[in-house]
Amino acid sequence: MNVVDTRPYELLIGERWTAGAQGRTFDTLNPATGQVLAQVHEATEADVDAAVMAAHEAYQQHWRKTTPAERGRLLRRLADLFERDREKIAWLETLNVGKPITHSLDSLKAMPASLAYFAGIIPAVRGETIPVGQPDVLNFTLREPLGVCALVMPWNYPMTLTVNKLGPALAAGNTVILKPSEVTPLSTMALARLFEEAGFPPGVVNVVNGPGATVGQRLVTHPLVSRVSFTGGTVTGARIQAAAAGDVKRVTLELGGKSPLVVFDDAPMEKAVAVAAGDLIKNSGQVCISCTRLLVQDGIRDEFIQRLQQRLATVRVGSPTDPATEMGPLVSAAQKQRVEQYIEIAGREGALPAASGQMALDATTAAGFFVRPTLLLNSHNRMQSAQDEIFGPVQSVIGFRDEAQALDIANDSRYGLAAVLFTRDGGRALRIAHGLQSGSVAINTGVRTSFDAPFGGYKQSGIGKERGLEAIYENTQLKNVKYDMSV
Ligand code: NDP
Repeated sequence: MNVVDTRPYELLIGERWTAGAQGRTFDTLNPATGQVLAQVHEATEADVDAAVMAAHEAYQQHWRKTTPAERGRLLRRLADLFERDREKIAWLETLNVGKPITHSLDSLKAMPASLAYFAGIIPAVRGETIPVGQPDVLNFTLREPLGVCALVMPWNYPMTLTVNKLGPALAAGNTVILKPSEVTPLSTMALARLFEEAGFPPGVVNVVNGPGATVGQRLVTHPLVSRVSFTGGTVTGARIQAAAAGDVKRVTLELGGKSPLVVFDDAPMEKAVAVAAGDLIKNSGQVCISCTRLLVQDGIRDEFIQRLQQRLATVRVGSPTDPATEMGPLVSAAQKQRVEQYIEIAGREGALPAASGQMALDATTAAGFFVRPTLLLNSHNRMQSAQDEIFGPVQSVIGFRDEAQALDIANDSRYGLAAVLFTRDGGRALRIAHGLQSGSVAINTGVRTSFDAPFGGYKQSGIGKERGLEAIYENTQLKNVKYDMSV
């Protein structure tokens, strides 16, 4: 399928598709081949200012005055157009991110439903009356939009994260500026072309591409931006929070993770192995909620490792465009280097790196950014490789004695994004679920985020919740009105 433009992708600022003030471009790569896939125009700070101004004017002049029904209609239309173009967008994610095509197609299935969900949730954007004990005083709240929102995206799930930020922001009555990752802008550009066709007025959605250090920084510090929603690494998130603090912007941060998967000796072993393997392979481990610390009770550790290694030995690593491929490349040469460095660090700290999988590379993929699925056997939780987010197909395997120790190790992390536990003991499952310092917990299944359930981390995994009804609260501010009607 020929889905990539041969001309450089332009920026969307108000009603204009533009090459930007200086007309500069940068290359975006295909990580499976290491070759240039397309060129993209790079915004200048003046372009960012123009995009913010377009979003501000659209908000002031009409978008904040639209009816819920009107916003719902446009979001539903966008959902239909997304469904029409879903396959094309999935191929763009495969070519630009390196996700196996089966995974791209599958992960984008829920996007139209996500947009329709936020269209449907608009009636929940409302206040309440408060009984203040004075019959002639009316006290009520109004839930109002924030204004211009900057949505800053990472490279691992460009489309899913964009849609799940965009839906609630627009539903709540805000206008937005999207800043895709410089590494993976293409699927977002395909989405950007749908707004006009869906009937969104110019300026409601704008897209600027370019480096985080310039384009991103300008966006998150712009005085007319009221809210920043960011997904990415914790270091960058903290930097953005500090930058946005100058004029006290609302900030939502979805950051890193080092999630534990805790397997007790009464666990359904086959399922636990399948979830562990799935997390290692999926998107080459570049998933914030992936379980990257496997905590396995001592009595079953050898059997668990043996079964997991048997499964991993069958993983086909290769071209993401081949439907038989289970695991593609990492997103960039830099990410590959980072992952390989962490495997070396783990070896130096006394872990035993065990790589598996079948590399199915050919002449076109030989220079791609591939790394084999790797278990770090004999790990312990204080190792750097068990504490840092590696963001690749690497899992530390760590033993534990009993429930108390399992919980101590699971919580011994600066992150708290997700956790999984496997046990047939219902009481223990609930005790551990209560004790885990984690924004999401899954029992006897894997963590799978969905657009209708709140998602967000504890500790250094983030601030605020996105998705579900909570996303509407993140995108609105509450006004209290007191009206003395006796006058
Ligand atoms: P970053 O977290 O640094 O980047 C995410 C987004 O933020 C990109 O659009 C980036 O722009 C932008 N950005 C960077 N700096 C700023 C800034 N000062 N102001 C505004 N925006 C900015 O991701 P990296 O690619 O550098 O990845 C680093 C590590 O982060 C990974 O190895 C991984 O561990 C983690 N990560 C975690 C993710 C998660 O979902 N939890 C997702 C992605 C990464 P640009 O890249 O275009 O320069």
